[in-house]
Amino acid sequence: MKYSNPQWDDNIVALATPPGVGAIGVIRLSGPLAIEIVNGLFPSKDLAAQASHTAHVGLLKEGGHAIDEVVVTLFKAPRSYTGENVVEISGHGSPYVLQQIIDACIRGGARLARPGEFTQRAFLQGKLDLAQAEAVADLIAANTAASQKNALHNIRGGFSAELKALREQLITFSALIELELDFSQEDVEFADRSQLYHLVSGAIERVSKLAHSFQLGNVIKNGVSVAIVGKPNAGKSTLLNTLLNENRAIVSEIAGTTRDTIEELLNIDGILFRFIDTAGIREHTTDAIESIGVERSLEKMRQADVVLYLFDATAMPPAELLANKEEFDRNGFRYLMVGNQVDKGEEAVMRERYAASTPLIFISAKQGIHIEVLKERLVDMVLQGQVSTEDTIVTNARHYHALQEMLSSLQDIRSGLDNKIPGDLLALDIRRSLHYLGEITGEVSNEDLLDYIFSKFCIGK
Ligand code: GDP
Repeated sequence: MKYSNPQWDDNIVALATPPGVGAIGVIRLSGPLAIEIVNGLFPSKDLAAQASHTAHVGLLKEGGHAIDEVVVTLFKAPRSYTGENVVEISGHGSPYVLQQIIDACIRGGARLARPGEFTQRAFLQGKLDLAQAEAVADLIAANTAASQKNALHNIRGGFSAELKALREQLITFSALIELELDFSQEDVEFADRSQLYHLVSGAIERVSKLAHSFQLGNVIKNGVSVAIVGKPNAGKSTLLNTLLNENRAIVSEIAGTTRDTIEELLNIDGILFRFIDTAGIREHTTDAIESIGVERSLEKMRQADVVLYLFDATAMPPAELLANKEEFDRNGFRYLMVGNQVDKGEEAVMRERYAASTPLIFISAKQGIHIEVLKERLVDMVLQGQVSTEDTIVTNARHYHALQEMLSSLQDIRSGLDNKIPGDLLALDIRRSLHYLGEITGEVSNEDLLDYIFSKFCIGK
């Protein structure tokens, strides 16, 4: 859908690469005069006469003063990211030089872009829908393979395609009902009730699946929080160090998470795990006598998505382990019980001894035995019973809430059909669900519905 917005015909400029010194820095301009503005600074060639999607090397000069030798890449409207004329200037990566280029562009008629403005323009020009535009932000913030893959899937329209299919279903449904209303005096039933029922049930299934994927989506975006708990000397800090040595995630900050605890971030198979309250684990050695009872750790375990209970498999009384397990079950925790120090004994003997508390895994944090098994289990716990990672996964809370509203209006439609409520009331519920769908993609319009009715049904009266 093309939005016309006259305020958007000015020209914007911004640094597209991170601030600081790099080998190169890229400055991006977008707007109807983007090419002309750069052309005024590029004496060696007439950029306006060049084809789209071409790159040109030359000196950037302002009033006879050379600023930098650069590569200018041209993207002519509408074949550009924003749908407008776009120019990218790759300069040498000195912040001073890059700032001079930006200043020259501003004197040439551009203004500094606001945050997200390039993507916002892409949306306004109909290049991306809202869900895709939001996925761009997610991709920029992606810090694991899974979040990258999901964001990319959505930028390329994965989620939007799913919504489009849903929208078509609902519009068909709505069109049938509206048509029936038009002919109400004639007592015609165009809208076969069982067909409608089938349609709405299909939509409910789709929407619930999408809404359900949010749990995993959230995990992919924000990470899974894990609490390592267990008695002193079980080997918690040893395990943490072993895991961190291989898997420490390179993450500066996770958007939308409050950090009131010390966390260590691990990237296991593309999923981000946040090991919470690790300061407590590292400090414990000062007070080895103190027994950290299960109650004391309950609060920490409640905060976590997953509890990793570590015990010394050469010292833990089996009855105590079983009592802990029952406590976890009572509290509804998702937990993994891990016997440590397997290197000090026979695994088979340990397995036998603690058989009442299975499932269990046995590792040696110190010797690195079965650490791979532990990691696999952690990943399994996240993906367990969830949609496959090939599916569309909802990671955005705004989308999730809109989907939930949709689901509730779809359920209203279905119960309306069950109770044989009049068509005009059904139509209202359908519009409500279409409204929430449109909120996700950024297109809330009743014209589509009208267009559909006229194009598909050719009423002609
Ligand atoms: P925490 O109190 O649970 O954090 O336990 P630590 O990680 O500090 O470990 C307590 C002691 O057990 C240390 O001396 C560790 O070297 C030792 N330890 C930890 N894991 C293992 C293991 O898998 N095998 C052996 N043999 N010793 C271990």
